[in-house]
Amino acid sequence: MTDEKYFEEMEARIPHGQVRTRFAPSPTGYMHVGNLRTALYTYLIARHSDGVFILRIEDTDQNRQVEGAEEVIYRTLEECGLKHDEGPDVGGPVAPYVQTERRGTYKKYAKMLVERGHAYYCFCDKTESEEDSGEFERADCPCRSMNREEALRRAENEPYVIRQLVPHEGTTTFHDASFGDITVPNDSLDDQVLLKRDGLPTYNFANVIDDHLMGITHVVRGSEYLASAPKYNLLYEGFGWEIPEYVHCSPVMRDQQHKMSKRHGDPSYEDLRKEGYLTEAILNYVALLGWSPKGELAETEFFTLGELSEAFDISGISKSPAIFDIEKLKYFNAHYIRSMTPEQFAEAAEPYIRQAVGNEAYSAAKIAALLQNRCEKLTDIPEKLDFFDELPEYDTELYTNKKSKTNAEISLNVLEQALPRLTALESWDEESIKSMFTDFAGELGCKNATVMWPVRIAVSGRLVTPGGVVEICDILGKEETLRRVELGIDKLRG
Ligand code: GLU
Repeated sequence: MTDEKYFEEMEARIPHGQVRTRFAPSPTGYMHVGNLRTALYTYLIARHSDGVFILRIEDTDQNRQVEGAEEVIYRTLEECGLKHDEGPDVGGPVAPYVQTERRGTYKKYAKMLVERGHAYYCFCDKTESEEDSGEFERADCPCRSMNREEALRRAENEPYVIRQLVPHEGTTTFHDASFGDITVPNDSLDDQVLLKRDGLPTYNFANVIDDHLMGITHVVRGSEYLASAPKYNLLYEGFGWEIPEYVHCSPVMRDQQHKMSKRHGDPSYEDLRKEGYLTEAILNYVALLGWSPKGELAETEFFTLGELSEAFDISGISKSPAIFDIEKLKYFNAHYIRSMTPEQFAEAAEPYIRQAVGNEAYSAAKIAALLQNRCEKLTDIPEKLDFFDELPEYDTELYTNKKSKTNAEISLNVLEQALPRLTALESWDEESIKSMFTDFAGELGCKNATVMWPVRIAVSGRLVTPGGVVEICDILGKEETLRRVELGIDKLRG
């Protein structure tokens, strides 16, 4: 096929007439919070307009390849419900969606750009970093003005890169949805490498080719790419292609000065999950890191993914950097924990409950019910349950409590009288246990707390417990409760 025909066919494949966005991660093995936010905004822009959300894997930087990295991307998108309509795994009209599989395409388009006078072959021996960064004195480069026949002849048997031919004069302006119009003098732009010696494109070239050939209407990405946007525009213009809408998102910061970074131990999406945060809470919080709803929804904090798809609009994206605040995330997480049904919570909590409570006789569902209103994240769970499997050592001072009007002597008396009452209970459930305590307090003519406090200490050995004495006795079962109450009596008798 002639190149001419190839280009025509590629053009013919491009879908038109719909919003098309793409999330284009490099497989680094790690989805940082900023990346997740980019994925989310990209998804929301597509969904908001009934458009198409595409996943493209940008793997042309072979030095950065990490084993299993693509898995992290697929898993994260799936867990978060950011379902892509086109991508390497699901295919689509403009496949392939992995850049290394598009290698032949970039070379053809790079050569096309040379023919159109917007790029040139460069045979200079540059160090790799010069090549990657484009930082070298282009005025000195003899290849820039080499005539095309000579360049083509040398390219047949010499290694080369293809560079963008950026004009020295004039200015270039580009438009970004949040940053507005930005104009730069062309002499501040370098002749960046488009095609490397190994025949692979640089990111700077591949993104333009792919965004065009995939029919991308909105390019959503981190603001670190803002500085390169004028060069991308010059490429689009060089090809005579329509420039997509740019939506550059400001970084997510750890504090005023520092971006979040893996190297400094800032958590990735997967880290946050491991730390006990729910996906819904992470997504909701991340959505608001750099975007705010307007109008009627201006004060709304809690959004499901579906609600975000409805509410999201590009004009709500802020250009100032957002600071990641773990306390705020905890607040969102607590909200989502509280809003689960008891069954959903029990299911999510069970693995954490079982980290602390090995005894299967102790019902995870009942324990979960004690925790749902008492934890901000799932990892808070195990430490609250350390008294179930084994009664911890405790000090008899715990029996003294002003509010409950108890001290060691009163507690001993209560426990001694509670023991036969508990023993006599025929059915062991919350209701029977509770009425035993209230009847008991009624007979003694004291507050419920005066009888409940000592028993709770005796069965848990803890000053603070999730749930009260009734629930704890119910979960422990009759035999273990009686055993612990007897131990309490022994302890108090000294
Ligand atoms: N592959 C780039 C990255 O992971 C994506 C930039 C873009 O979306 O254009 O940073």
